[in-house]
Amino acid sequence: MLIPSPKSSWFRQWSGPLTQELIQRPGEFGLGTVPENLVPDATTTMVCGYCSTGCGLNVHLRNGAAVNLSAASAYPVNLGMACPKGWEALAPLAANDRLTMPLYRAASSEPLAPISWGGAMDQFCGRFKELLRKHGPESIAFLSTGQICTEEMAFLGALFKFGMGGIHCDSNTRQCMATSHVAYRQSFGFDAPPYTYEDFEQSDVLVFIGSNLCIAHPILWQRVLRNRHRPEIIVIDPRATETAMNATLHLPIAPKSDLVLLYGLAWALIKRGAIDWAFVEAHTTGFTDFIAAVESYTEEVVCLATGLPLASFGRFVDAIIKGQRVSFWWTMGVNQGHQATRTAQAIINLALMTGNMGRPGTGANSITGQCNAMGSRLFANATSLLGGRDVLNPEHRAEVAGILGIPQDRIVPQKSLAYDEIVARIRDGRIKGLWVIGTNPSHSWIQQRDLNETLSRLEFLVVQDMYGSTETARQAHLVLPAAGWGEKDGTLINSERRIGLVKKVARAPGQALSDFQIFRLVAAAWGCGPMFERWNSPEATFQILKQLSAGRPCDISGIADYRMLDEAGGIQWPFRKGDPLITERRLFENGRFFTPDGRAVFLSETPVPVPEPADEQFPFVLLTGRGSSSQWHTLTRTNKSEVLKKLAPSENYIEMSPQDVARLGLTPGRKVSVVSRRATVDVVLRASTSVKPGECFMPMHFVETNQLTLSAVDPHSRQPSYKHCAIAVTRHGVL
Ligand code: SF4
Repeated sequence: MLIPSPKSSWFRQWSGPLTQELIQRPGEFGLGTVPENLVPDATTTMVCGYCSTGCGLNVHLRNGAAVNLSAASAYPVNLGMACPKGWEALAPLAANDRLTMPLYRAASSEPLAPISWGGAMDQFCGRFKELLRKHGPESIAFLSTGQICTEEMAFLGALFKFGMGGIHCDSNTRQCMATSHVAYRQSFGFDAPPYTYEDFEQSDVLVFIGSNLCIAHPILWQRVLRNRHRPEIIVIDPRATETAMNATLHLPIAPKSDLVLLYGLAWALIKRGAIDWAFVEAHTTGFTDFIAAVESYTEEVVCLATGLPLASFGRFVDAIIKGQRVSFWWTMGVNQGHQATRTAQAIINLALMTGNMGRPGTGANSITGQCNAMGSRLFANATSLLGGRDVLNPEHRAEVAGILGIPQDRIVPQKSLAYDEIVARIRDGRIKGLWVIGTNPSHSWIQQRDLNETLSRLEFLVVQDMYGSTETARQAHLVLPAAGWGEKDGTLINSERRIGLVKKVARAPGQALSDFQIFRLVAAAWGCGPMFERWNSPEATFQILKQLSAGRPCDISGIADYRMLDEAGGIQWPFRKGDPLITERRLFENGRFFTPDGRAVFLSETPVPVPEPADEQFPFVLLTGRGSSSQWHTLTRTNKSEVLKKLAPSENYIEMSPQDVARLGLTPGRKVSVVSRRATVDVVLRASTSVKPGECFMPMHFVETNQLTLSAVDPHSRQPSYKHCAIAVTRHGVL
């Protein structure tokens, strides 16, 4: 299809007025404006846009533009600290491969070429509407991100489902937090991480399961180091990670034996009588069935499955019994497993049965990944309805329709497919058009080559991003240039449920627009603009989110406006009208959960073997994870900083035990071929005692790693199992 002529009927219908609007009111669309509400030389505080820690950063402005930043000492999250990514947060904005205008590929054999916003919207609406007309509402989908503001996520979900008439949409939060979302929802009745960061400092026993906090959440590790109670720090991880090396007890279990270990711990506590019966009887259901489910997990069974010595397991049990304030923390080592949801719930069960809930220093605490994964879980309107509602519940649909002032039949009572199911439908041809916003699936999705072959089948792929250089953008038919963190206003919600502000402190380059303004443009071009009349700015949308949250567990109706968030240093949900404004807020202090009877639920399931065990042909288990604190996900932003690039390896590597290196006659520092059933890649070999014989580790940040990983998902959360697949390693060039 050719770029439409300005004389085409589509263009005449709407492109003219939109282009006029862009020209006459550029500030409203974010073009060429100086940051609002700021004097030219000033310092303002906003939250970091990388990870879910949600650190406060002071941004220093000169002549209305951000020139530097520093860690905010008064912000209650980071207390004056920041990791390398935070210190370098402005660098990606100045990268020379920023998109400055929309790009369009007129034919599959032709390169992407500049197109006006009007022309881009012509293609966007024309192509997606044509697919809807020919193939129905299930033929288009979007995949979004946990990196944009809550207001933007909510707008996108409402626009796509209620305005454009689509059904299937998901986010890259499926890759990191879906397990926690489902686990909490089933156990507590709502997706509600119970803790506040103060709990890191209050515990006398901290248990980290599948979490390399030192690297993945370095500022939260600093909060652990502020703990004055000489805590026992127990790390459950197959690898001797940086966090494990700093633990008082490291349990280097066999990969994916965590569920057996946690059931074994539960049974040992039951046998020793270390149960808080008062809490269990008053605030939970299902404990009797749970006892029956775990009674076969004796210490012999545990030690056989995990490879742990009996003494280590005994010390673990003793530490939990002795602890007065035990907190359990987990991240991707749990969430990205083949039985992830039940593993997360095994952790929740332990906190419930020992009464470690709702008190300072306790909790079953999932640490989030991306800066706004929590916003996505509550307000993205993807698989759940706005405000954590259920799209299949007619009362919930009526509530949302009433608040938004839209006809109820605009909310289709059908759940969206999950990410992997959307990919499967692209593969079988049922989904033909895809809109990708702020994420890079061509790099990050599991079994990457299969994904890329699948994307090539799309009739129309739109990518909305800051950069045209991502692996996914390079395949797109249409690329929309987006502003980044620091170039727009909005809110993010961190791991401890704290809503923080991001602010426009820099100009987006060229014609790049904030994601929010792109959605406004799409709404106007699509012809559903009037439905979103009230969504005319991020702060106006925040007021709509407040209404959507009122009466829900995530109630934020007590937050007056952005100014209140700014002055308070962020506010944790829930914050209802009339609630006192306090710095730290934890959930379940009264023992009441969000289930209909107010009781938390014990849930369990028999552990099943990993989908792809090591065997004779592929004798090693490949573990994946974060490589360093200075790298973020697919390196799209962190590789734009010369400082960050110096702090991390520049090429991919595999860590292997010195014993295996010697046995295979390999040479550390040289390239080796890593082979899985999906691909063969060549990376640098490192000998490392951080992995046990038979296990290897590769960082997730480099493009080769997910060529190897296996397409397996947890059945409840549909989160991919990135942490385990079988590989072989040979000398480079031998194959
Ligand atoms: Fe940003 Fe996370 Fe680093 Fe804090 S720890 S500065 S939120 S990337």
